[in-house]
Amino acid sequence: MLTELEFKKNLEFVQEQIRKACDQAGRKPTEVHLLPVTKNWPSEIITYCKNAGFDTVGENRVQEAVAKQEAVTGMNWELIGHLQSNKAKNVVGKFSRIQTVDSEKLIRKLEDSCNRNEMEMKILLQVNAGEDPAKFGCSLEGTARLLAFALSQKQIRVEGLMTIAPYAPEDLDVARSAFAKLRNLRDRLSDEFNVELSELSMGMTLDLEQAIEAGSTMIRVGSALFGKQ
Ligand SMILES: *Cc1c(COP(=O)(O)O)cnc(C)c1O
Repeated sequence: MLTELEFKKNLEFVQEQIRKACDQAGRKPTEVHLLPVTKNWPSEIITYCKNAGFDTVGENRVQEAVAKQEAVTGMNWELIGHLQSNKAKNVVGKFSRIQTVDSEKLIRKLEDSCNRNEMEMKILLQVNAGEDPAKFGCSLEGTARLLAFALSQKQIRVEGLMTIAPYAPEDLDVARSAFAKLRNLRDRLSDEFNVELSELSMGMTLDLEQAIEAGSTMIRVGSALFGKQ
């Protein structure tokens, strides 16, 4: 595991990357939030994030996140990994937002669990914008219908869309195209349903520049901050 000083250097590097990408895209760096992705790292890493001023981290697995929540307090947790609908009852009250909602079944279970606990749940709809068979997410064509369903629930707050671009490090146009599709879909749905959908969670270590260019409001970064596993 890296030292806190090494982490701080990595963080400065990523922040500089964000500044440059925003500059090129004519955007303000304050429009792009950096979500540190702490999956597979011990809870000390989350303490580094906390010391650097972060109040939210991203985790992929419910059990792993819940174990870390016992070790680190004063942090918000967003779920960015796939959530099976039979696990929905385990996330309400534990995560500030679920970024990976991609089916009516899951929405229904989240709503049930929210009702039982008298809580609300913030979500993003995960869209398979790159039409990658290896990725979860609702299809581009199916998102309007899923959004309509989510908006009809009482305890669910849809804050935007999320995508993971297909893995294609040799050809970043693949990611660029997926991000543009998500951005266009958001703009269209936002008009059609008259809702804000202000969060566009897209971009990771390899493709954060392309994501910022396409309008990302949240990049989810693991390896650039913490190193490779
Ligand atoms: C692991 C992960 C990330 C971070 O990936 P890096 O390439 O390490 O930056 C972002 N989003 C999701 C959904 C992930 O699973």
